Amino acid sequence: MTEETKEPASERLDFIRQIIKDDLESGKHKTTVTRFPPEPNGYLHIGHAKAICLSFGIAQENAATGGRCHLRFDDTNPAKESDEYVRSIQEDVRWLGFDWGDHLYFASNYFERFYECAMHLIETGKAYVDFQSQEQMRSTRGTLTEPGEASPYRDTTSDENKALFEKMRAGEMKDGEAVLRAKIDMASQNLNMRDPVIFRIMHHTHHNTGDTWCIYPMYDFAHPLEDAFEEVTHSLCTLEFEDHRPLYDWVVQNCPVPAVPRQIEFAKLNLTYTLLSKRNLLRLVSEELVHGWDDPRMPTISGLRRRGVPPEAIRHLCHEVGLTKFKSTNDVTLLENAARDLLNKTSPRYMAVLDPIKVTITNWDETRVDELEAVLNPNDPDAGSRKIPMSRNLVIEHEDFLDDENPPKKFFRLAPGTEVRLRYSYVLKCEEVVRDEAGNPIELLCTVDHETLGKNPEGRKVKGVIHWVSADHAVKAPVRLYDRLFVDENPSAGEGDFVDHLNADSLKVIHALLEPELAKAAVSEARVQFERVGYFVADRLDSTPDHPVYNRTVSLRDSWGGGK
Ligand code: ATP
Ligand code: MG
Repeated sequence: MTEETKEPASERLDFIRQIIKDDLESGKHKTTVTRFPPEPNGYLHIGHAKAICLSFGIAQENAATGGRCHLRFDDTNPAKESDEYVRSIQEDVRWLGFDWGDHLYFASNYFERFYECAMHLIETGKAYVDFQSQEQMRSTRGTLTEPGEASPYRDTTSDENKALFEKMRAGEMKDGEAVLRAKIDMASQNLNMRDPVIFRIMHHTHHNTGDTWCIYPMYDFAHPLEDAFEEVTHSLCTLEFEDHRPLYDWVVQNCPVPAVPRQIEFAKLNLTYTLLSKRNLLRLVSEELVHGWDDPRMPTISGLRRRGVPPEAIRHLCHEVGLTKFKSTNDVTLLENAARDLLNKTSPRYMAVLDPIKVTITNWDETRVDELEAVLNPNDPDAGSRKIPMSRNLVIEHEDFLDDENPPKKFFRLAPGTEVRLRYSYVLKCEEVVRDEAGNPIELLCTVDHETLGKNPEGRKVKGVIHWVSADHAVKAPVRLYDRLFVDENPSAGEGDFVDHLNADSLKVIHALLEPELAKAAVSEARVQFERVGYFVADRLDSTPDHPVYNRTVSLRDSWGGGK
């Protein structure tokens, strides 16, 4: 390879990819098996996207050695889980660009094996049935400085425990009457190791197993077993599980399992102006503060999708924020800019007027219609071009007209007596302003310079360019102007309720006038730029070319200040 053709030095590996590389090089593992283990108790959010991009990304990078990533539903709590969530999670992972192949698993399919492992612990004297109340167990657990006290049931014989656990399974005990606890160490420095509860009684119908079970395993017991059953090599999770790792390892060591997975923790993704926690997102949905989980203002994957954010932009963000062991919060403009940068390259351009004022071209024949030609995307030579009709009656954006005979020097748009270029069209001059009774402008009587199509007027400089639509050809369509859901950088900080920090202007629905080709482009999920305004997407559920509905993804520039 010559100097010129050499690839740029590859980026340094993050600490997790470095561990995996070392394990493969040392021969500890022949390949890498990761998993993404959502609990189906809500829709996925952008934080989950970080975990998905990490675990599925590692599998893709190691595809040559058979690397794979399992999608596993951690559905061990029947009270909060549902099939709707199971479906949405699969759709979102696929939409993000990942594939689990044949490796779709449900923790609930392991219920019998969890039970067997629990029996094994009982038989080896490492688990016991405890009849103390939750309150009693809490009060005897000790503190960070004091050891816990042994339960009076800690020394029940294996045989007795076996019989009791069988009774728990058979439905002969009520919710909360007893639990199964691992017998580890009531004096451990780590509170998670002080005889943690591993099975509880819950008479509740499960979305997958129905009423077959009335005892359910706790997360800390089920999770390491699921990983080990599936021969996961690297189990990647967020930092809050760090203190649970000794218990994870204990379960794997003390149960009959086929593999020894390694848990590695990383810092969660957090974004300013954004709440990421299913509990809070569920509240927004159930209190109808937003229109469902896929409301375009939600930080859910399905919300971002409906907002028009491309999956590539989400993957780019997850890569940009990096992988560390330190808690941090990233600026939400990172996400907005990732969307902007990508959409700038990929989206076709059209014109739409959101807040119209009438323009009549007095030196244009009533019947004349010109078909002007414009490129669809200046950044993509293959995108082709479109035709824009121009007639005597136009609309322009209200804010592009300044009602001042002496506009400031730096004002290059339209004012009484001044000239401006109509994008892809002629130079327009405002000759007269028609006003309503209150004196507000309602129509601009203008002329065009017929010599200026595609060229500058002789001897005059026209600096401003504005967008416009032919009023005779425009298609009126609802456009939803979305903005950030919260006005506060950290909506859950402080004493108050996060609901107090909602942005009252996070959604405005207006009726815009679209150039005809923009209406035709409104097939579900088409992403476009409204020239000079922003990036928009044809709503996934509501839009068709006959009835276009556009959602604003992001404005063209950051309007919250502080941006670039
Ligand atoms: P939440 O706290 O939002 O309710 P969760 O962690 O309870 O989320 P799970 O369904 O248990 O939701 O998460 C599946 C995986 O996603 C877990 O491995 C978890 O560590 C990871 N995850 C959750 N939130 C984030 C985040 N903000 N950043 C990165 N990974 C996350
Ligand atoms: Mg959870």
